[in-house]
Amino acid sequence: MEKTYDCIIVGAGPSGLTAALNLRRNGKTCIVLEKETIGGQIAVSPRVENIPGTKEISGETFANNLFDQISDLGADFGLENVESITKENDMFIVKTDYETYKAYSVILATGCKHREINVKGEKELTGKGISYCAVCDGAFYKNEDVVLIGDANTALQYALLLSNYCTHVYLNTLFDKFFADKILIERIFKTPNIIVAHNLNLIEIKGQEKLEGLVFEDTKTKETKEFKVRGAFVAIGQLPDNDKFKDIVKLNKGYVVTNENMETSCPGMYAIGDCRDKKVRQLTTAFSDASIASFNVNFYIEDIKGAQHE
Ligand SMILES: Cc1cc2nc3c(=O)[nH]c(=O)nc-3n(C[C@H](O)[C@H](O)[C@H](O)COP(=O)(O)OP(=O)(O)OC[C@H]3O[C@@H](n4cnc5c(N)ncnc54)[C@H](O)[C@@H]3O)c2cc1C
Repeated sequence: MEKTYDCIIVGAGPSGLTAALNLRRNGKTCIVLEKETIGGQIAVSPRVENIPGTKEISGETFANNLFDQISDLGADFGLENVESITKENDMFIVKTDYETYKAYSVILATGCKHREINVKGEKELTGKGISYCAVCDGAFYKNEDVVLIGDANTALQYALLLSNYCTHVYLNTLFDKFFADKILIERIFKTPNIIVAHNLNLIEIKGQEKLEGLVFEDTKTKETKEFKVRGAFVAIGQLPDNDKFKDIVKLNKGYVVTNENMETSCPGMYAIGDCRDKKVRQLTTAFSDASIASFNVNFYIEDIKGAQHE
């Protein structure tokens, strides 16, 4: 028989974990279902400096602390990929690759996945020189030159991390400036082994079994420039991952549409964090969404349980 929870949370990133924290503190039963990494995107961040009250913490330590806190409060966890959600008579049926669960409410906290650059060879050489995670793969290129493609906070954080052990980090951006926090841009220009080049468009990835090099075209001069490296990191932003829920909730460009109470178009289903249609995607906004949603979920569950017993 399916296990029934007050709430099922899809995704164990900062928003999903914070929702579990609040629900458990209100005595609600919940399970957090995660398909990849507990902690979500932040687990691979080398240095987090914008959590109020915490000067600096690694993403991994932050995620582990949060996980321990919620485990101690008695939340259930499942390393499972949620494949479908349907609603029958006020109850949600959540199917994963292993199990089927029932719940009075669901919180979508599916975050974002990395954006691909869509140049031939990218897919074939991912894990063979092309990477999306400097924290995970950077150490493979100690004392070597690497290329990093991207112009926003994540790319700059990765460049700074790689500069600690790579000989040179070639930080190439498509446009003529960075779209990142001033403090990070200043650090980049103060780091002698980070070499910044703007207006470079990746046109070719070289290599068969392993990455051998990258060819860029200067969008202003049309000249080509080749970087002979074994390692290249792509950090060009994120995309939502909500396609499988499009029949149950309204999406806008793939992001889940909610109101300010984090309610989606489906009563009893909420969305929080980076998966939500909103402008600012950060830890503090993820925490805030989660607090708002869990407050409202709490009352929703009590109402629906009350109505079922009338
Ligand atoms: C390298 C890096 C550095 C960053 N640094 C900072 C920083 O310093 N400060 C800051 O404020 N923000 C930072 N961010 C952004 C921050 O990490 C995100 O805003 C935050 O993680 C969003 O949390 P979330 O829970 O909404 O989503 P996510 O962290 O994306 O977590 C969503 C989780 O849901 C899971 N999931 C998705 N679909 C399913 C499914 N169908 N079934 C089961 N599980 C599923 C995913 O695997 C993922 O683990 C950084 C991001 C990156 C990538």
